Amino acid sequence: MYTCANCTIHACKTGQRDKMPQNCPMRDPEFFERLLEEYEKPENHDFFVCSSAIEAMGYCQWPRLREVVEFARRMGYARLGIGFCSGLRKEAAIVDRVLRSNGFEVVSVICKAGGIPKKKVGVTAETVFPQGTDHLRPVQLELLDAPMCNPIAQAQLLNKAGTQLNICLGLCVGHDSLFYKYSQAPVTTLVAKDRVTGHNPAAAICYADTYFADRLKGGSL
Ligand code: SF4
Repeated sequence: MYTCANCTIHACKTGQRDKMPQNCPMRDPEFFERLLEEYEKPENHDFFVCSSAIEAMGYCQWPRLREVVEFARRMGYARLGIGFCSGLRKEAAIVDRVLRSNGFEVVSVICKAGGIPKKKVGVTAETVFPQGTDHLRPVQLELLDAPMCNPIAQAQLLNKAGTQLNICLGLCVGHDSLFYKYSQAPVTTLVAKDRVTGHNPAAAICYADTYFADRLKGGSL
């Protein structure tokens, strides 16, 4: 099993291959040689080279939104898609404006598209909280009455519109996964939803041992 997250050697970065840990994936060099072929495939090659170019060109200068603009321009894309959360509708309008001002056509779809009640797809108080709802805050119960988020519809509507790159703007955990899964165009994440940190999930990681320690303990509901 690979445990790069716990490695302190990082021979992959330093080049000290004689110091590789026993379970280092680089102990199978043929694997890495074979998969280079994937980067040579037409659908991956320019995309990957362009990603690396953008990383270098705007390094520590361009905010991510600018990187998306530059990446899309360099790839020659004309029509971009945005799949966004209704909680970030103001931000979606700003992203739309910035993209258009940079010459792109923009297609955007909100998460609530369809306006379908959650219970139609089996999201009910009983299925979400089988242990009962007495302990819930009113806002949590109200959530169950809101229309469902519809990431599959978001992706498929963007597919119908023929977008060439889709931008994920603040979709919920799991909803984002379905959006990625159903998008025909490649997806890049511009905003990762995190209601507690102002959409900066890294804050909870950086302060996992201090300010966020209690709130990172599972099973609290
Ligand atoms: S690839 Fe090998 S050296 Fe690099 S982090 Fe993983 S275990 Fe460590």
